Amino acid sequence: MVRCINCDREYEHEHELDHEAVDEVELVEQDDGPPRMQIGTGQRDVWRCKGCGKVLGVR
Ligand SMILES: [Zn+2]
Repeated sequence: MVRCINCDREYEHEHELDHEAVDEVELVEQDDGPPRMQIGTGQRDVWRCKGCGKVLGVR
């Protein structure tokens, strides 16, 4: 059971949520400047509440 703490909606299963695959972002430290964002090689699976869009799970 997954419950959205934001809008109080309840889901019986994870697959009832909105699923989205997003690129993993890494912060790369540089010797001669500020850290820069770099798209990682991996992808993350994100599940969002269908009601309010809050992220309820990341894998
Ligand atoms: Zn919600």
